[in-house]
Parts: sequence; structure tokens; C-alpha cells
Amino acid sequence: MFPNRCPVCGEVIGAQDRFCTDCHEKLTPYSGETLIAGSSRFIAAFEYDGNVSPAVMLLKNGVCGNAAYALGGELADILVKSGMSQNIDVIVPVPLHRSDRMKRGFDQTELIAREVSRITGIPVSCAAEKIRLTLPQKRLGREERMRNLAGAFSVPEPALIRGKRVLLLDDVCTTGSTLAELAEVLINAGVAEVFCAACCKTPDNIDQKT
Ligand SMILES: [Zn+2]
Repeated sequence: MFPNRCPVCGEVIGAQDRFCTDCHEKLTPYSGETLIAGSSRFIAAFEYDGNVSPAVMLLKNGVCGNAAYALGGELADILVKSGMSQNIDVIVPVPLHRSDRMKRGFDQTELIAREVSRITGIPVSCAAEKIRLTLPQKRLGREERMRNLAGAFSVPEPALIRGKRVLLLDDVCTTGSTLAELAEVLINAGVAEVFCAACCKTPDNIDQKT
């Protein structure tokens, strides 16, 4: 078996540990108030900063290691502590496009969702699909972001989530426009209520690009 390593610094840690003690102490708990259109509430585990970014890079570069385990576990704790998990019937991860998933070899958000599910007992449904490739959102202005995402997602089998209270889950939330677009798609597919969560949220001042 491979040893478990801290997803930030790479140090060997205990089999059940998420981070080493030093790295965990440096992480900044999310304390902002982000509103996502179409969603009742948004929650995140950490502010996105240089202390957590190595773990996020592991998710994105096709290695993953225990980053999904560590970040998913932290997010699950927050969902339980905040009481939000009691109001959720099903977790829907923000989907990757098929070609991006093949490039990376795994879907990091789905792995995070599976870990949140393991801890909270809430089932995962990969009910949303990304049917069109899009440009990275962060370099686009507000209008361009909306155009970029329009028609990018679909729910092929609405019966899976109809009438349910859904937690839409992403790894990192930057502008919130991906979550807002998907929330609308889910509502159109007949879900009762949408909640949103991300492992990390970028600072709001980066978010104000319009
Ligand atoms: Zn560490």
C-alpha cells in the first residue's frame, strides 16, 4: 500500500488523516456570504489561497492522491455542522465534459461528492451532464461568462432528481456563474430546491469582475 500523504506538503500522514497538522492549521475556513442565483444557500470549507492551492492542484493535474478524500471530508464536516446536510436528498456533482474527464483520468468533483456521501450518508446522483466544452470562466466578463455557459449542461434523466432537494457540489467556486447556470438547469428539470457547496471559494474581490 502507498502511504497516505498530506495533499498540501506531501509529508507522510496517518492512514485516516486528511492533512498534516501544520498544513491544516494554515488553512483559512470560509467565512464569506456568497449568493448563487437559483440556490437557497452556498457553503464552502475553505477560502481559496496559497495554503490550500497545492491540494487543489493535485485534483486538477490528474494525480489526485488523497486530495479528494481530504477536501471532501472537510466539506462534509461543514455540511453536517451547519445543519445543511439535513435538508438535502441527493448530491449532484458539477460535471466535467467527457473529453476533459478522459484527459484527467477521473472526475475530481465526483470523487469529492463520493467522500461527502460516505460521511453524510446522502446519495450521489451524477444527474447533470456537460454536453458542450466551454472556455475557462475566470478570464471572461459577466456577459461572456453567461454566453459561454448557455446550453453547456443538461439533465438527461430528470426523473432521477425530480422533486428532490439537491446539493450541487463543485471543487472550487470562482465566479459562481457555473453553479448558477446549473442551478437553473436543475430547477428546469424539476428539482424542489438547490443548495450549493464547494471545497474552496476564491476571495470575493477576485469575483467582482463584470
Ligand atoms: Zn502538510
